[in-house]
Amino acid sequence: MGVYEDLGLTPIINASGSVTRLGGAPMSREVLDAMTDAASGSVPIEVLQAKASTEIASFTGTEAGLVSAGAASALTLGAAAIMTGWDRGRMESLPHADGFPNEFVVAREQRSGYDHAVRAAGARLVEVGFNEIVPGAGVRRTEPWEYEAAFGPDTVGVLYVFTPDSEPPLVEVVARAHKHNIPVLVDAAGELPPRSNLVAIPAMGADLVAFSGGKSIRGPQSTGILAGRRDLVGPAFAQLVDMDDHPSLWNPPKELVDIAKFEGGPPRQGVGRAHKVSKEEIVGLLTALKLFAAGAYDEEVAGYRRRLERIAAALSGAPVTCMIHDRDDGESFPLLDITVDEDAAGRSAFDICAALRAGSPPVYPGHGKLAQGTLVVNPLHLDDASADALARRVREELGTI
Ligand SMILES: *Cc1c(COP(=O)(O)O)cnc(C)c1O
Repeated sequence: MGVYEDLGLTPIINASGSVTRLGGAPMSREVLDAMTDAASGSVPIEVLQAKASTEIASFTGTEAGLVSAGAASALTLGAAAIMTGWDRGRMESLPHADGFPNEFVVAREQRSGYDHAVRAAGARLVEVGFNEIVPGAGVRRTEPWEYEAAFGPDTVGVLYVFTPDSEPPLVEVVARAHKHNIPVLVDAAGELPPRSNLVAIPAMGADLVAFSGGKSIRGPQSTGILAGRRDLVGPAFAQLVDMDDHPSLWNPPKELVDIAKFEGGPPRQGVGRAHKVSKEEIVGLLTALKLFAAGAYDEEVAGYRRRLERIAAALSGAPVTCMIHDRDDGESFPLLDITVDEDAAGRSAFDICAALRAGSPPVYPGHGKLAQGTLVVNPLHLDDASADALARRVREELGTI
């Protein structure tokens, strides 16, 4: 019996990977041991975050960094820092940002539910551009000049969501923004691997970058990274960590805060206080980041592929087509598409997916291609036994057992 059974819950077979909805990525033994170790002693969180800053800075080629409560948390903290700088009065008023610049310009085509995290700091989003390819209206997408045309007295930053396909290119947006001294906050939550992006994205000129700690880095699910300029990471730090110290004793780490910025005492608890990160999580994230950056997970890719081949072999003869997609960078794991012959099976892929979730054991394949009749198997959480159980459940639902 495990802890979930003790609670009367049934563990699932997670074939969706590191999604937050299903609890994130598996953590390595080294990360779990480091977290246990961290729990057995105490250090001031400010000092621990300062150490994290130095480590994150060296892994990302930036000036400073913080461990946040997820990439979404890093976006809230980053937006807050860009709006307040070192101004305690502004920190105190967030998330109400009336009376000082609070607008972030963002490409309309880069908007998503995750930008709620930026708005949660008190920022307003100002949309620019179109993606005319999607509605079939033309061949153009958002263009760099459109950002510049939208900049005005209330503009405080640019929000940019990085993907390999993002338009316009980040460097061009940075050039337009920096011409007006406007910082660029980049959401790169899911852009690892490749691990080269740890350095490459900040090197494109981003002032602050948010990475998820609970996806491919495989740190604690509720962690993220905010990395970038020290004069922005510092104010983010001041709005994240607990400020309930005595003003005559408070001595923030020099790596992040020049105490002269806060003459007369620290700011009060900030908008990020609700995003607190534990010592165990900070240590877990740093341990995982070190493993990820060193390529420690690469050796698992071959095992993942074998497991997907095993599932595909077990489904031979069933009314499905199996196709393994390798992403040949040596870092990313392959994915298996199981495309259901819905006529032969007499059932839709949606129907089968719902039945897999409801069955025993519950199986959760990726749902991103169901409209095309495809169940996607992400191998991150699978071992041989769960791979076999998954294949058996799919066969049962197809009536081929
Ligand atoms: C996953 C994701 C986030 C949120 O990351 P968390 O670490 O779960 O907070 C934000 N933006 C994008 C684009 C994402 O894919």
